[in-house]
Amino acid sequence: MVLHGTADVTTRPLSREDAPTPEPGEHEVLVRVERCGVCRTDLHVVEGDLPSVRPSVIPGHEIVGRIVGVGGEVGSLSVGQRVGIPWLRWTCRRCEYCVSGRENLCEKKRFTGYTENGGYAEYATGEDGYVFPLPDWDAASLAPLLCAGIIGYRALKLALPRPGGRIGFFGFGGSAHLALQLAAKLGYETVAYSRNPAHLELAERLGATASILTGSKGTAARPPSLDGAVVFAPAGASVLDALSELKKGGRLSIASIHMSPIPVIDYDRLLFGERTIVGVESNTREDAREFLDLATRLRLESAVSVRPLGEANEALGALKAGEVVGALVLDCSVG
Ligand SMILES: [Zn+2]
Ligand SMILES: [Zn+2]
Repeated sequence: MVLHGTADVTTRPLSREDAPTPEPGEHEVLVRVERCGVCRTDLHVVEGDLPSVRPSVIPGHEIVGRIVGVGGEVGSLSVGQRVGIPWLRWTCRRCEYCVSGRENLCEKKRFTGYTENGGYAEYATGEDGYVFPLPDWDAASLAPLLCAGIIGYRALKLALPRPGGRIGFFGFGGSAHLALQLAAKLGYETVAYSRNPAHLELAERLGATASILTGSKGTAARPPSLDGAVVFAPAGASVLDALSELKKGGRLSIASIHMSPIPVIDYDRLLFGERTIVGVESNTREDAREFLDLATRLRLESAVSVRPLGEANEALGALKAGEVVGALVLDCSVG
């Protein structure tokens, strides 16, 4: 499913095309895609919230599949292996960020399904070192781990650097439903905030300590109770909702690659008292390895709906309309 020019997703900008199977480079593997998750970032790529960087692109960066070819310089990966290909595709390994363990900030980094073709396809390539072995679980349930899961994990670490405490999740989609489970299993108190009652039902089933229905007027006035918060919704107004629930010294991370403008922040009430806001950018490979290990050992459960690859436009439309509960995944084994 190829994007030739950014456009509103309701105009069905992805077209179904026959393309040659990609050739893996010397440091790449070729993967037969089984399932590819649908992430909000794909929507930002398709609709042009992220600037277009090439004439055409195949989106998709939550790729689960099996290796069917390896380049000559590939080290530890082999044909037949079940792997995942995430958003972070390549980093330079030389800049000040890369050499200090902050490769997520590398200025030259490349991305799956944005700067390079991704997984809304039957075949995809990935770079050795940025491709991760996965267990033989159901492929659809693994797909959301690869971006929603990993980014949510990084956001969690940035919001609550110390063990324990109470953490709030604002916007309860694919990422939050995994991050909340992980936080609950690690012993945090967890609070889900959403405008959608179906999202809160899912949150409660996954172990939320509390769930709070938010209205168009924002969250109701009550004493701040959170030690940390993560905003997943791409709406700037939700930053104020989260800050108003945050105790002194609390940290707020924003797990979104794009957001509508944040309204004016009342410093005296919402930021004074050593509250911190940080915008999460991508992830490191260490985040990916840590999270995939935890997700496997703690058996995180993905709530997924699966649609055929050919319905990628409709899937993105459903995501934009807020109709998705949990995560959406494309079945790439059928064309
Ligand atoms: Zn770099
Ligand atoms: Zn993503």
